[in-house]
Amino acid sequence: MKMLLDGKWEERSKKITVTNPADGSVVDTVPQANEDDVKLALSSAMNGFEEIKSLSVHKRAEILYKTAELLKQQKKEFATILAKESSKTITEATGEVNRCINTLTVSAEESKRILGETIPFDSFPGGEGKKGYYYRFPIGIILAITPFNDPLNLVAHKLGPAFAGGNAVILKPATVTPLSALKLAEIFIKAGLPPKALQVLTGPGSKLGQPLITDKRVRMVSFTGGVETGEKITKIAGIKKIGMELGSDSPVIVWKDADLSKAVSSCVSGSFWAAGQNCIGVQRLYVHKDIYNDFKQQFISQTKEYKIGDKLDETTDMGPLITEKEAKRVEAWIREAEQKGARILTGGNRTDAFVEPTVLENVSENTTIHKEEVFGPVVNLYQIDDFEDAIKKANSLPYGLHAAVFTENINLAFKAAYSLDCGSVIINDSTDYRLDSMPFGGVKKSGIGREGIKFSLQEMTEPKVICFDVSKT
Ligand code: NAP
Repeated sequence: MKMLLDGKWEERSKKITVTNPADGSVVDTVPQANEDDVKLALSSAMNGFEEIKSLSVHKRAEILYKTAELLKQQKKEFATILAKESSKTITEATGEVNRCINTLTVSAEESKRILGETIPFDSFPGGEGKKGYYYRFPIGIILAITPFNDPLNLVAHKLGPAFAGGNAVILKPATVTPLSALKLAEIFIKAGLPPKALQVLTGPGSKLGQPLITDKRVRMVSFTGGVETGEKITKIAGIKKIGMELGSDSPVIVWKDADLSKAVSSCVSGSFWAAGQNCIGVQRLYVHKDIYNDFKQQFISQTKEYKIGDKLDETTDMGPLITEKEAKRVEAWIREAEQKGARILTGGNRTDAFVEPTVLENVSENTTIHKEEVFGPVVNLYQIDDFEDAIKKANSLPYGLHAAVFTENINLAFKAAYSLDCGSVIINDSTDYRLDSMPFGGVKKSGIGREGIKFSLQEMTEPKVICFDVSKT
């Protein structure tokens, strides 16, 4: 595929091969953008911004609705390319396309609700005779940098609200999964987006990132990815807005009164969705000692039913990791945990890029797999018998995106809701629940700011005050 630069679809002699992580087969190639491309993207995006900011709101909404409609028409094609380039199964990929249609539709709806307010200037002495209001204006060029694990919908989470608010975007998708993002750009242009309002540069973030992030014309860096990359970006960004959607190590507390079968099935799915490459995937499961054995047996037996293999087969439950290198990393973390006393209840093996869904217990708190985001199909079981202690344990790591609790006790549910240190607390479902229009983001190392269309729109626009002195009238 070609990249979108200065309103044209461009090739370069230097190319990047996009491979299917299941078997290493070539899916396609994309150009590798160079320094001149970065310069052109920046100057062209300035022109694109002038065009999109002057579009009426109904026109912006129309473009977003039309893009959602085109995506609906090409759902199968999008799901197939997504399943090929990423590690998602066709079922997971279809789910992502459906969510993307919703993200774009809600962006169209929210474009009509970017509201201001009148300001009571006379609420303080000296303000008599002043009348006015504020409205929200677009901020300019937004640099969107996205990860591999939801390569379509996470791009839409940046493009949808950015265009709804009248901004231009330079998109740098993950190098391993650029194809669905480029296809999304194609349908945006078909839907009538001013072509220079979107530039898509393909190539390594380690090279393209610095000149884009540090450029003063870029008014916001909207980043979704790993903590390490997020830290690099914040260090060099300078004075501009920053949105950081980073990783986590999500905890779930299963209390003794929980609906066991619901807790088991939602935590199994939450642990192994997208082969665990999921920022809100279940990683630490704190289960009450009275139900621990029953929970464990049911969890193991459901995990053993998982069918791993051909991503394009609708009966497959789990695909490979994004690369063999990542699979080897996850395998090494399992071996380290084993050496430090962990028991493997099921799974634990790797073949090429595939890691079996793995359940561990007796995991030392002094292991990487306990302390860091595993981003793979591994879940750790721990026994608890005190609710306060479980909350302390859940809060003990420097991440805080989602946390969950299973209990039938409303008082405990409220206690958890107000004392878990994170962006969302899910009661009676796993951490792996997100509605695309809810405020989404984390605390501590999990990020800065919130996405979720309406909330992204707040970050991607600024209020401007208009004040009239009408004391003469
Ligand atoms: P990553 O390695 O941090 O990469 C994310 C993006 O950053 C890619 O486009 C990458 O480009 C680019 N990048 C790499 N180095 C850069 C640099 N120095 N400057 C600018 N950009 C740079 O993350 P990933 O492995 O793709 O994604 C997994 C992580 O994303 C996990 O930690 C996960 O939890 C997090 N995540 C968070 C959320 C959320 O909403 N909170 C959602 C999904 C994923 P290249 O591909 O070219 O390296």
